[in-house]
Formats: sequence, structure tokens, C-alpha cells
Amino acid sequence: SAGTLPDDWDRPLAGRVAVVTGAARGIGASIADTLARDGATVVAVDVPAAGEQLATVANRVRGTALQLDVTADDAGARILEHALQRHGRLDIVVHNAGITRDKLLANMTPDKWDSVLAVNIASQLRINEALLTSGDFTDAPRIVSLASTSGIAGNRGQTNYAASKGGVIGMVRATAPLLTAFGGTANAVAPGFIETDMTARIPALTRQVARRLNSLQQGGLPVDVAETVAFLASPAAGGVVGRVLRVCGQNMVG
Ligand code: NAD
Repeated sequence: SAGTLPDDWDRPLAGRVAVVTGAARGIGASIADTLARDGATVVAVDVPAAGEQLATVANRVRGTALQLDVTADDAGARILEHALQRHGRLDIVVHNAGITRDKLLANMTPDKWDSVLAVNIASQLRINEALLTSGDFTDAPRIVSLASTSGIAGNRGQTNYAASKGGVIGMVRATAPLLTAFGGTANAVAPGFIETDMTARIPALTRQVARRLNSLQQGGLPVDVAETVAFLASPAAGGVVGRVLRVCGQNMVG
């Protein structure tokens, strides 16, 4: 009624429904937390093997969990069905699920190429296609894709990963014009070294150098990435289209 505002009137994502892939841990879990803080209802997606961690995140953000491998043929359809059935709409998709299978090029076996390209880029393409052709996506969709500084500058031992993340940047640039026609945006976030399980496996010396090079004088944290994703998903970023925002604590060239 006149004179009363809903409790969450000042939260930028109030009333929005967001899907976050790879949400069971690391950067994805932090993105789920941050979007929920900003008022969104979150669908947390991850593989069945991560089910327990995924349920913890979904409960924490008062959203729902969807156990799903993003490389499944029907991943886009299942995401849409879940969001519509449980929450009545879908506004924001954060493509965060990603893997590394590092090896120097001479030892980069086909399975290492295929698995990394399948999870990191092909899944994003196919889910976007399913959502954008369904007619059931919101009228002002926000798509935020996790790229990486490896996809811009390359990284020794990561030809497959760099190719996948460079591919994400190209895909975002090509998708953005399709979305602007109906008030939507697509953008990418390119983190540098962030302290997660993914980077816990890299050599100690490499980690030490990465921390020293960062303006923060430490490794980046998942929340640094999550805040940038939340901005790109928010109404405030409505004019930011087809961009790559680096969150790497460095003034990188290239
Ligand atoms: P992480 O390994 O800690 O977490 C990744 C999550 O994705 C896991 O929960 C995993 O189960 C899930 N996942 C993997 N394959 C999946 C699939 N097929 N279907 C559904 N879920 C799947 O990784 P992170 O460090 O949090 O990375 C998150 C994203 O950020 C990735 O896209 C990664 O490439 C990107 N990134 C990370 C860094 C970094 O330094 N950590 C830097 C640049 C970019």
C-alpha cells in the first residue's frame, strides 16, 4: 500500500532470479553469497559429486540447489525448467563452472583438450543457446561469464585452458549484440590468481610470485571476483556491454 516499501527495496537484485554454475565452492560459492546479499534468489548448480557442499551453499543463501553437469546435452533446458518451476523466472546467468587440466603442450593429450573445452566454453555456448531460443528467459537478461587472464595473456602449461577462456571472451563479444536488442547484457570477468582449490595445486613458488605481483600484496580472494560479477548483474551496469573486466590486482598489458 502507499507509504510502505518492501523490506528489500534498496537491494539492487531484489526480485531477480540468478543461476550460478559451479556454486559449491570457491569463486562460485562467493558469487552465490554476494548475489543473495544483493537480493537475488539463487539457483546453485554443481555436479552431483559436490552435492553436500552445494546444499550447504543453497541453504545459506536461501535458494535452491540443482545437481547438474553443465556439459549435459539438456543442461540449458534443465536450468530453465528448474528456475521457472521453483522461482517463476530467470534473469541472471553466471557461467562460473570451470576446470584446469594443465600440461606443457608436448604432453597435452586429447582428453585434456576436450574436457577443458567442454566444461569451460562449449557448455556456456549451449546453455546460452537454449536460454535465448526458449522465449522463457526474462526480458532483460544478464549473462556473466568467467574468463581468466590466461585467456588474454596466455599461460605456460595452459594452452587448453587459455584457449577455452579466450574463447569465452570472443563468445561474450558475439553474444552481447543479440541481447542488447531486448535490454540484456553479456559480459566477462577475467580473474588473475585467486586463492581457491583450483590454484592450491599450482607450484608454491608460482603462487608466491602471483601474490607479490598483486596490488593487494596477497592472492586475490573469491569475493573480489564476486563483487565484480554482482556489479555486472545489477541494474547499475546496464550500459556495460560485451566487456571483459579483469580482477587481477595488476595493470596487465594486452
Ligand atoms: P574451483 O575448482 O574451486 O571450483 C569450481 C567449481 O565448478 C567446483 O565446485 C566444481 O565442482 C564445479 N564444476 C566443475 N565442472 C563442472 C561441471 N561440468 N558442471 C558443473 N559444475 C562443475 O574453481 P574456482 O577457482 O572457484 O574457479 C571458478 C571459475 O573461475 C572457473 O571458471 C575458473 O576457470 C575461473 N578462474 C579461476 C581463477 C583462480 O585463480 N582460481 C582464475 C581465473 C579464472
